Amino acid sequence: MLADSYGRVATDLRVSLTDRCNLRCTYCMPPEGLEWLPREEVLTAGEIVRLLRIGVTLLGIREVRFTGGEPLLRPDLAEIVARTAELDPRPEISITTNGIGLARRAAALREAGLDRINVSLDTLRPEVFRTLARRDRLPDVLSGLSAAESAGLAPVKVNTVLMRDINDFEAPDLLRYCLERGYELRFIEQMPLDAQHGWSREGMVTADEIFGLLSPWFTLTPDSERARGAAPAETFLVDGGPARVGVIASVTRPFCGACDRVRLTADGQVRNCLFAREESDLRSSLRGGASDEEIARRWQAAVASKLPGHGINDPSFLQPDRPMSAIGG
Ligand code: SF4
Repeated sequence: MLADSYGRVATDLRVSLTDRCNLRCTYCMPPEGLEWLPREEVLTAGEIVRLLRIGVTLLGIREVRFTGGEPLLRPDLAEIVARTAELDPRPEISITTNGIGLARRAAALREAGLDRINVSLDTLRPEVFRTLARRDRLPDVLSGLSAAESAGLAPVKVNTVLMRDINDFEAPDLLRYCLERGYELRFIEQMPLDAQHGWSREGMVTADEIFGLLSPWFTLTPDSERARGAAPAETFLVDGGPARVGVIASVTRPFCGACDRVRLTADGQVRNCLFAREESDLRSSLRGGASDEEIARRWQAAVASKLPGHGINDPSFLQPDRPMSAIGG
């Protein structure tokens, strides 16, 4: 098992397949992008699948989520999904994507074994999309969402980051849009993980503010029908349900006490927390001829030293060196 000293067990593995992205979201990276990982440092499909096999067969991983950067930029994504689906026991397989290119690939990914999907959508307005993502690709995201649904990926979840005075006023419209299409929307508090270290608590739209933006239009009640467990999202029934909306409030309503997540970066480093300041290198072990058992032990040691929480609310908090775009959601 991947247990830490606080009694938490990691069973949900988030795998960043690349640090590259085709958008330039203001809360993530600068307009010019970042210096990408050298290709030779990025794990091959075979290396990723070997680590997944070790995680699933030796370490109790039961859920695998592929993230990025933007995972759809990996041409071998369908192959990686298919080989993950062959693992025994078969993990639940999901992906977090910005939706660019999804319309063309949703059916093939579903065929390969993808179970469900999270698509980032911060606005329904092209001009706001251009401001936030610094690209003009909103129609691609919307057609990607409907292709995901048509392909039978379920649930289709939508992740929205609200930025003060940029897209926060769109909260009710975004919820209405998702409710009409059966997508499950989750609002995410912006986290201090941007490459330019521009995050500020004052600039962040809090969970309480999100409720305030929605309450004139919707009645939200605690979700009595679904146990939260280790899920990041706190869910609420909308107007009595069954439709739901989620809020992921890492900063103002942290949920680290029940965390079951562990992360693998595109260059083969284990991060025991999104905000970890240390990493454990599995790539050198992989390429150095280590056995599966040796790699598993190294992975276990990395999780065993996990801190109780992200520490964002501590005066001593330091943002990790690795940006969100190279860690993944
Ligand atoms: S911040 Fe770290 S410990 Fe907290 S929920 Fe996220 S990954 Fe888990």
